[in-house]
Amino acid sequence: MVCYYHLQPFVGGETLLGFLRRQDKDKTEQAARPTRAGFFSRISQLLGRPALDAGDWDELEEALILADVGLPTASRLLATVRERARRESLASGEAVAAALRQAMVEVLSLPSQAPAPSPSGLRVVLAVGVNGSGKTTSIAKLAYALKQEGQAVVLAAADTFRAAAIDQLQVWGERAGATVIAGQPGADPGAVAFDALQAARSRRADVLLVDTAGRLHTKFNLMEELKKVHRILERQLESPPEVLLVLDATMGQNALAQARHFLAAVGVHGIFLAKLDGTAKGGIVLAICHELQVPVAFIGTGEGLEDLAPFDPVAFAAALLPPLRS
Ligand code: GDP
Repeated sequence: MVCYYHLQPFVGGETLLGFLRRQDKDKTEQAARPTRAGFFSRISQLLGRPALDAGDWDELEEALILADVGLPTASRLLATVRERARRESLASGEAVAAALRQAMVEVLSLPSQAPAPSPSGLRVVLAVGVNGSGKTTSIAKLAYALKQEGQAVVLAAADTFRAAAIDQLQVWGERAGATVIAGQPGADPGAVAFDALQAARSRRADVLLVDTAGRLHTKFNLMEELKKVHRILERQLESPPEVLLVLDATMGQNALAQARHFLAAVGVHGIFLAKLDGTAKGGIVLAICHELQVPVAFIGTGEGLEDLAPFDPVAFAAALLPPLRS
């Protein structure tokens, strides 16, 4: 969602991205620490060699794959870097590292795919993702950031399959200072989303964030439910709802498989990659951008309300592969 949030000034000319950047520039660097200390430290070591031979390139590819970058993305990155190294006669490990960093930034920088903002001014975001991915927490973080910016936020508790999910969203909503619209456990999630949309409109809210049930992608009927919620919202809106997929970074390559199911069911405009701080598998960000061509909009950097950062390709690439020490 940041994809178009940062294009549009909010109250006072500030943007959400600007607000978050001002809050904490170091969050990306900190959240990427476990990944940097993991397989990316091997990559830094390899590039620290005076000159790279053919075997080193193979080792680099292997290290990228082990860092959850995946084969297709590792191959693409190294093809770009090798071609540049040949063309520009890059000799030092530092020069190759800089070329790899640049290739990473290129893979990570995807254009916004968010639907055009609605003329009414209300932004409707459907948050999807499997149970436990960090969906509720991530919604609360976004609500909190938007509130800080002076936005009126309504949350819809459309995960009606688990009573605990409704309670959890209510608790988080209260903490974040957002209104929560909820139904009874077991209620029709489409009806809850519909009611929340009416409530958001009558309150002249700026943003409606809809929580959905933790869909196990293998359960076809639950995906059908999700499609129904999407259809109901789409019918009511001038432009389709924005779909934000929350993925758990600790799942590594498995997160990609999950994402493909959601892409096929409702389409995905942006990804909130939760729990980046808790994994050495942060290379998955590269695979997500390259293989799915869906931009990562936010990263989760901890369990608290303020623990998110807008995804910044340059900062992230530099955090994974910092300049080598001479
Ligand atoms: P949901 O079932 O998808 O709604 O997931 P929850 O929001 O309940 O989160 C599941 C667990 O992940 C909780 O223990 C959260 O505190 C934790 N969590 C969520 N986001 C992050 C994050 O960015 N970093 C860390 N370290 N933990 C997170």
